[in-house]
Amino acid sequence: MNIVFLGPPGAGKGTYAKELVKMLGIPHISTGDMFREAVASGSELGKKVEEILKKGELVPDDLTISIVKERLAKEDCEKGFILDGFPRTVDQAKALDEILKMLNKKLEYAIYFEVSEDVVVQRITNRRVCKNCGKIYNLITLPPKVDGKCDVCGGELYQREDDKEEVVKRRYRVYMENTYPVIEYYQKQNKLFTVDGSSGVDSVIKEVLNIIRG
Ligand SMILES: [Zn+2]
Repeated sequence: MNIVFLGPPGAGKGTYAKELVKMLGIPHISTGDMFREAVASGSELGKKVEEILKKGELVPDDLTISIVKERLAKEDCEKGFILDGFPRTVDQAKALDEILKMLNKKLEYAIYFEVSEDVVVQRITNRRVCKNCGKIYNLITLPPKVDGKCDVCGGELYQREDDKEEVVKRRYRVYMENTYPVIEYYQKQNKLFTVDGSSGVDSVIKEVLNIIRG
């Protein structure tokens, strides 16, 4: 089961992937995690990635593609994978097709989690993080027991710069501009499935399972 997850930041892709990994026994591969792993490994590739991330720039396509290729060739991807955060552009989508062809695999499902800008803004701007242990709260869906304090360690909760409204809106628009063509790309290949990402986690998971179980 070779799957790609598409959707703007705040669509909940990470949450859904985590649930599905348990049910399907295939790995969740996120480019963010892969970049962090590459940096931690101290490899040549990792050093290049570190340099770029430090400057706050986007990791260029050729580097991202080599990292994805290396990852998908690993043994744990034999039964399939959920790829999240890649591809973000049509060029990357074409590169993914090439990578999979080389590995004798084929992408089967591109699942697009559709959420409106309003929903994303509401989800992310209500996010609070513990300064001390990093636990993530949501003032609406997962509020702390005591206002402004972490349930686990009593640390102070704060809002990350990235989670502020203007930043969230900008990221949403950038995503939609870059990624809409990717959605069309998969539609033309008859691999696109759209799921309403604003319904609850349980109903989203159910819908995804219906898709992949035909
Ligand atoms: Zn804490």
